[in-house]
Amino acid sequence: MTKKPNSDRSKSKSGTTPDFFNKKAAGRPVPKRQKSTETYVRGILNGDRVTLGQAITLIESQHPGHQEKAQSIIEACLPHAGKSFRIGITGTPGVGKSSFIEALGMYLVKQEKKVAVLTIDPTSQKNHGSILGDKTRMQDLSVHPNAFIRPSPAGDSLGGVARKTRETMILCEAAGYEEIIVETVGVGQSETAVHSMVDFFLLLLLPGAGDELQGIKRGIVEMSDLIAINKADGDRITIARQSQKAYKNALHLLPATDSGWIPPVLTCSALETTGIQEIWQSCSDYRKMTAKNDFFQQKRRKQASYWLHERIQNDLRLHLLTDPTMKDALEKIEAAVLSYQKTPFQGAREIIQLLIKKH
Ligand code: GDP
Repeated sequence: MTKKPNSDRSKSKSGTTPDFFNKKAAGRPVPKRQKSTETYVRGILNGDRVTLGQAITLIESQHPGHQEKAQSIIEACLPHAGKSFRIGITGTPGVGKSSFIEALGMYLVKQEKKVAVLTIDPTSQKNHGSILGDKTRMQDLSVHPNAFIRPSPAGDSLGGVARKTRETMILCEAAGYEEIIVETVGVGQSETAVHSMVDFFLLLLLPGAGDELQGIKRGIVEMSDLIAINKADGDRITIARQSQKAYKNALHLLPATDSGWIPPVLTCSALETTGIQEIWQSCSDYRKMTAKNDFFQQKRRKQASYWLHERIQNDLRLHLLTDPTMKDALEKIEAAVLSYQKTPFQGAREIIQLLIKKH
């Protein structure tokens, strides 16, 4: 995916002070040759992929000037966003995520749908680019005019990647992408982050092994709206059916979901493109059902509230750790707490008072 013409990565480090606190950096000039917000927004609303890609680069940039512009673009795009169906796809490396997305994406673009694929890959920082980038991924989809594929920005924390993906989603929606697929590499905490930003969560499994053996963490099966046993082809068909049965029985034992939806267990072959249509049908059924019982909007509201609180906590914590005055005060107070001169509660109160006084 790194080889996509529209892929562009931020090389900046993560963990810097949130921009609204970063007064010193905010004074830095924005590089010339940057388009106006209106030009970006017009290009995005017209579905221009180059402009969309450039605007996402601004979202990914740590430069305060870029960030400011990115925020104004997002704000202007917001009224045009939110109309998509957001699907999260997870599964351990090798299960066939990229092959499956290629198959599903091609199925959708053939029906004149516009598909955006975003990746959450917090491991990419360790590898100077996505670990997924080594392979040639989604060959046909990546060159299709109705598809837009964007890899995870490199060199960022999961929190940073998740925020940027959420913002990127808004721009993609404003550019007319109706189906947004968010892929996670299926390691670390990324499934939870993706689950809290999508409408539908799809877990890919291999035929045969139980979930512990497949490296699926506890809770992932429970948060899935659909389980698809991939690679149900050749001599794996029988074992795929057996796995399907086993997972159906296991899911039966789980408490009913809030939405009233019963997660189906299906089989597919991304390679032979079988089972894809049935999986899409299931996604559409879910969409219809949750639109009718209002769960769809309820979930989106819950997610918005979750991200608001998450962002506040994250930015405050970063500020405490990076602003020189606050960092200094925190270190002193922590030392006092560790030597029992102050209680943790007293220390926390003092830090908050200092924060309020400073701003
Ligand atoms: P990812 O790491 O989860 O993205 O997995 P990939 O899509 O890169 O697939 C890993 C390997 O499994 C590749 O060699 C694929 O060709 C193969 N693969 C993917 N889907 C299928 C499938 O449905 N059937 C078979 N037989 N092989 C598959």
